[in-house]
Amino acid sequence: MRIEVLSTGTELLRGRSVDTNLGAIARELEAVGGEVRYHATCGDDLARLVEELKLAASRADVCIMTGGLGPTEDDLTRAAVEEALHRPLRFRPALWRAIRSRFRRLGVRVAAINRRQAFLPGGAGALANANGSAPGFRLEADGLLLFALPGPPREALPMFRRFVVPELARRLRKDWDLWEGKAIGLPEADVDALVRRIVGKRATYGLTVSGGVVSISVRTGGPSRRKILRDLSMRVRRALGRRFIDAPIEEVVARLLAKRCLTIAVAESCTGGLIAHRLTNVPGISASLLETAVTYSNGSKVRRLSVPEEVLRKRGAVSPEVAAAMAEGMARSSGADVGLATTGIAGPAGGTREKPVGLVYTAVAFRGKTAVTERRFGGGRPDVKDRAATHALNLARIVLQEG
Ligand code: ATP
Ligand code: MG
Repeated sequence: MRIEVLSTGTELLRGRSVDTNLGAIARELEAVGGEVRYHATCGDDLARLVEELKLAASRADVCIMTGGLGPTEDDLTRAAVEEALHRPLRFRPALWRAIRSRFRRLGVRVAAINRRQAFLPGGAGALANANGSAPGFRLEADGLLLFALPGPPREALPMFRRFVVPELARRLRKDWDLWEGKAIGLPEADVDALVRRIVGKRATYGLTVSGGVVSISVRTGGPSRRKILRDLSMRVRRALGRRFIDAPIEEVVARLLAKRCLTIAVAESCTGGLIAHRLTNVPGISASLLETAVTYSNGSKVRRLSVPEEVLRKRGAVSPEVAAAMAEGMARSSGADVGLATTGIAGPAGGTREKPVGLVYTAVAFRGKTAVTERRFGGGRPDVKDRAATHALNLARIVLQEG
């Protein structure tokens, strides 16, 4: 099945918004055995939209279109489909009633232009939009199965999951399976060599790197694919050992804490709250996370964490001693079982020969012992912050698994 995604909106071509619909649609189709063969982004221009739709009809079996279903002048999807697929628009009284009653429910006066949204190409079926006023539609014409969805992801994606995925999943027969895992604290080239040696010709694999974590996906078809994947994944896991994780690092840490009924508190300097942000993204973390603080200045480190002034003066804020004192101070003052801390130089300025940009000390205080690491991370300021946060969470995981 040849699937095309057609994103519309001049703002996408100008880089004002990023096409996140495409990524979500492609990923979720892959899970049911579909693959996006073509993607096009088209501005809000009738002639060009018509051209793109005709192209989609000529090269694809299914087209998933997003955007341009609003009521304003630049919302041209309905008109473009009418022209490209030769299906004159027809007024749908039931749709108009539904739109009006939605506005009434929200206590907003319906504008005359909203009536445009009640016109659909002949033969199209309306797709209900639970999160917005623009209905979508489904149309089979000129050998193309077209789904037109609104632009905003919070409207488009629930509709995609409700109307598009089930129909396409029925038509696609998935004949392959996928195994996914993550390696942490190992360069991509090393992960590649390790996975390649194990997988050989029995499957295909792909790696993606983000913030110091290498995601691995191994894919294979054939009747014994489950057995092959079980075997390969076991061997990859075994070869990676402590460097293997099966979920994002903050989820692994949260799981370990919950399983052992332990609490954590975090004192961050160079990561600026990123660790707190990541941990608080995990549902249920409130059972384990007591407190986080961004102790950025020396004064804050002294006042909030009781880092000795003398250590700060003699060793500097970016030092193993200060990282350890921050973690211990945080654990003590919060009453948490685990204290986690970061201090480093995120750049781009502020580096010296002894303490270059990207130098980060991380400490974990747990059961009377404090583990400290020194790392030098590359990249710009956001990369250093991101990698330092990942590394700190990973250090917490290792200490928890060993302690
Ligand atoms: P509305 O009724 O809100 O106008 P619409 O169906 O007409 O909806 P557009 O006007 O094309 O949709 O887009 C509305 C907003 O949705 C855009 O400004 C943009 O922020 C977001 N959006 C549109 N397409 C995408 C996309 N492919 N990925 C992510 N966001 C998108
Ligand atoms: Mg619009």
